Amino acid sequence: MATFFRCGRLFTGLGEEAARDQTMIVRDGVIAAINPTATAPKPAAGDTVVDHGRHFVMPGLIDGHTHLGSGNAMTEEDMDIYAPIEFRALRTMINAQRLFGAGYIGAIDGGCAGRVALAVRNAIDSGMFPGPRLICSGGFLTTRLGAPNLYPNWFKNPYSLCELVTTMDGAIESIRAQVKDGVDFIKLGFDGRQRNFQGGLAACFSESEARRLIEECHRFGKWVKVHAKGTEGMIYAARAGAKVICHAADITDEVVDEVLKAGAILCPELTIIYTFTCFTQPTDSYFDFIAYGKGEWNRTIASMRKAHAAGIPILAGSDSGYACCPAGEWHALEIKLLVDHAGLTPAQGLRAGTSLMSPLFGDGCKTGTLAPGYLADAVAFEGDPLADINVILDKSKLRGVYRGGERVMTKAPPINPRTETEFSYRMWQRIYDQKTVAQLVAENRIGVR
Ligand SMILES: [Zn+2]
Repeated sequence: MATFFRCGRLFTGLGEEAARDQTMIVRDGVIAAINPTATAPKPAAGDTVVDHGRHFVMPGLIDGHTHLGSGNAMTEEDMDIYAPIEFRALRTMINAQRLFGAGYIGAIDGGCAGRVALAVRNAIDSGMFPGPRLICSGGFLTTRLGAPNLYPNWFKNPYSLCELVTTMDGAIESIRAQVKDGVDFIKLGFDGRQRNFQGGLAACFSESEARRLIEECHRFGKWVKVHAKGTEGMIYAARAGAKVICHAADITDEVVDEVLKAGAILCPELTIIYTFTCFTQPTDSYFDFIAYGKGEWNRTIASMRKAHAAGIPILAGSDSGYACCPAGEWHALEIKLLVDHAGLTPAQGLRAGTSLMSPLFGDGCKTGTLAPGYLADAVAFEGDPLADINVILDKSKLRGVYRGGERVMTKAPPINPRTETEFSYRMWQRIYDQKTVAQLVAENRIGVR
């Protein structure tokens, strides 16, 4: 028995255009054929017809970078300290399910505490819970000087997003443990905040260490995703053979050459910078960092324009997982930002969020492209994203999300910060010295009790 998807327009992820009036035939969750409806075989008795004859059908969207376990964190402590690890696995699940409501059928989860993303991936894949297709790493391996090792040296946290490694032997051991536990790829952090003599971000592993680590991942058939905002980290990552380089804020001609030579992909995560700099309010502590964020936005956009012009592929990953960019909300914004600011055409933007991801999922999970032999992971929209990219951000335009040809539920519970996120002891945003108090009294904002 087969399912016939009538598609008003069909964007396969392989070309520039969306063909009109196509029929996609699906058997056992896999695409068997795609033909113009006029010449397609007719459904037989018992076959099902799904009518998207007035809609735009494309591969189900995939977010190239999420932290579903971070719980839409309002503080680093929310993310890393107070919520028990078991609870973090459960909120990873609900955040994963929220992807469906945004037209997303998959994500590459790049860094989580412990093995929470792996546990959720396995629970979904084994049919215990409905959810998207996930590929994931474990904790994000870095040194004391890499993001996101934000804690003081004396503080040891076995359940952080960051897996702190302090020796090369320890780093190799961590990689082997992650491989044994079944990660899809390894996430490495190559820079943080420390500057080198040239004023750029210093890579927190030396070049020879970077090569040793990535070589070890490759020995076990695991590709590598590297967090590198600075030039030095990007160059080390590319030379050592990293597959995906995240953030990539400071691209120089040398970086372009090395990345092209390595055949690496960039994943700038514009959405996290955009949402943080645009949404953050004066009452939020992070307001003080907006000027820094705007500088990073400008540098990253300039870098992406340069990389795109040089022909380097760019992946759409949102970095969702913080309060300014919660799961299920802003994933597709990345595609819009790549189109509006980095010079990608709408078709290139849609491919950045679909088919460019296909090789990363591998042959064991053929998603991201609509072609015979691929999983029938698709999304249907009212409207034409190739003419107006805003369509993919508008949840009211969503007309169906399919995982392996099966319609999935697109309604997940609304985000409840009090029960999902707020575990840290939120206290004050300022220090109440005499001057501050006098000012508040003058403004009538302090009453006498
Ligand atoms: Zn990230």
